[in-house]
Amino acid sequence: MKIAFLGLGTMGEPMARNLLAKGFEVVVWNRSPGKTAAVEAAGGRVAATPRAAAEGVDLLALCVSDGPDVDQVLRGSAEAAIHGMAAGSLVVDFSTISPGLTRELAAAFAERGVGFVDAPVSGGSEGAQKGTLAIMCGGSEADVERARPVFAAVGSRATRVGDVGAGQVAKAVNQVVIAGTYQAIAEGLMLAEGCAVDPRKVVEAIRGGAAASWVLDNRSGNMIVDDYPLGFRLRLHRKDLGIALGAAAAAGVGMPVAALVAAKEDALMTAGHGDEDMSALARAARQDAGIAPGPLGGEG
Ligand code: NAP
Repeated sequence: MKIAFLGLGTMGEPMARNLLAKGFEVVVWNRSPGKTAAVEAAGGRVAATPRAAAEGVDLLALCVSDGPDVDQVLRGSAEAAIHGMAAGSLVVDFSTISPGLTRELAAAFAERGVGFVDAPVSGGSEGAQKGTLAIMCGGSEADVERARPVFAAVGSRATRVGDVGAGQVAKAVNQVVIAGTYQAIAEGLMLAEGCAVDPRKVVEAIRGGAAASWVLDNRSGNMIVDDYPLGFRLRLHRKDLGIALGAAAAAGVGMPVAALVAAKEDALMTAGHGDEDMSALARAARQDAGIAPGPLGGEG
């Protein structure tokens, strides 16, 4: 299978390298030059434009920042990918964007006989490096099956959720669930501190029970010491919550917890914390609890 990969950022670059490692023929394109060196060293070819990358491939994958960026790369200019793709080929979008735009893009490609699968991922940069991403797919059964060899090279699990757009809905749900989880853990730790009980001991006591979670295991430590190295950038989560809140509004679904966390993230971004790990929500929780910045539990 000949593959094009557009967007060699934190996620896309290791995904393209994993495809090369599995023996696929891969041509890549990135907006800013200078990010292609590692892929070239691994045997990838570099194209000058999305259109040139798309010519002659069976499958075009992309992983860029946001909806307008995906739109731009796929159909926003004469050099966009849509003009290079042949009927019978397939687009796989690994970016996190809105379900509505996804359906619109899929319809534009369908007019040219090109299939479309939305395939947002979870697992972070570590999952992208290791090829262990969890992939949430939307598309026809036949198109998702065609993409499976690619999914197997970059991820450890790919679940077809439904038709085009359903993968992005699943990703939005994922981001809503983690919003509540981070916020609740931050609040809980402040409760322990306010009651003069060691938050570390509390985490140790509850992590094997019903409150267990990846966030509790991996991010409560950041919240306790009040230091937030990446991780998952808070501003990217806020982007994803915007997608989720937009989809919720369109569906007439109220989401008070997601809306609250979005407001807290907005305030944190305004205060200059947008490029910290998302666990920086504990900064706001400290403030809400009337607890001074700095380590909890007498640490320092
Ligand atoms: P990133 O490191 O910031 O890279 C973004 C990539 O998109 C770069 O290659 C950038 O090109 C390209 N890009 C942005 N706007 C563009 C435009 N208008 N035209 C062409 N190219 C454009 O981001 P990332 O972390 O890889 O995230 C990519 C996607 O994966 C996002 O949708 C994100 O939400 C999702 N995601 C990220 C994570 C994570 O932990 N990072 C986890 C799951 C999902 P330049 O090099 O020219 O800037």
